[in-house]
Amino acid sequence: MRNSSLQRAILRVVIPSVLLAMVSIYGLAVTAALRPAQQSSSPPPISIEKVKDNVYIIRGGSGANCFFIAGKKTNLLVDAKMTPESFKEMLSEIQKISPRPLGMIILTHSDGDHVNGLGGLQEKVKILSHRRTYEEMLPAVEQTPELKDILPTDTYEGSRLFDFEGTRLELKNFGPAHTSGDTIIFVPGSRLAIAGDLMFYGRDPLIHKHKNGSFYGYLKTLQAMLDYRPEVEIFLSGHAEPAGRAEVAGLIASLKEKEAKIREMMEQGRTLDEIKEAFGVQPPPAGARVRRPSLVEIIYQEILDKK
Ligand SMILES: [Zn+2]
Repeated sequence: MRNSSLQRAILRVVIPSVLLAMVSIYGLAVTAALRPAQQSSSPPPISIEKVKDNVYIIRGGSGANCFFIAGKKTNLLVDAKMTPESFKEMLSEIQKISPRPLGMIILTHSDGDHVNGLGGLQEKVKILSHRRTYEEMLPAVEQTPELKDILPTDTYEGSRLFDFEGTRLELKNFGPAHTSGDTIIFVPGSRLAIAGDLMFYGRDPLIHKHKNGSFYGYLKTLQAMLDYRPEVEIFLSGHAEPAGRAEVAGLIASLKEKEAKIREMMEQGRTLDEIKEAFGVQPPPAGARVRRPSLVEIIYQEILDKK
């Protein structure tokens, strides 16, 4: 029994991650994800669960996990699913739990599975993101003018600290990591943080080089996330189940180990192809429109760049 519940737990983490990898690595993000014809089967229904206090996780639908914080008068939404249909379904499910108007949206980063659902937004709402997330969304929006309303209406650099209707929020960007504009939302009163796509388990994290993501930046960001608010004990993210400090520390350790192994092989004069083979890096599927580098290739290149 333990085995099968463990398997279920692993599948819960791995399956959405695999879907994300297919979507993000092979170029379906942002623009292509806007085309509903590419949705072949219907996504799982939206489900909402309280994490702690007034913070909720929203699973299901098309796209990444989203979150909402129930304020005294309005709800604050974090991320926006991948399709207008899932976005609207999410808003109506939120109403069943917290019947307040939507007061504000924060975007953790610019990937299509976190922002494209904003096409379903039918009211004027403040949308806040890091400045570079705004910039990364511009090319997609320029190709699809009817999406201009999905652009952030307010941006910040470094940090933005404020009270949302009685809940202290601290938005931090610790430099390029998954993308160049990742936001971590600390909710210190609840000892938790919402970390966008900074956590993946059972697979390699995604570093979007085409959005100026960085492997060493990713490591630095994970460590900064632990150090900034040592009292935080729950880390929420788009494609994994809620995690604790030990899981984040374990992810940092495993990435450092991978980096050390790659560096060692490079010092032994092994070629990139040999290193990729040693790590079992698979070629992209036939017909992939965009070839994105694997984590091994990204680490290899960043080690070279450091020299
Ligand atoms: Zn992402």
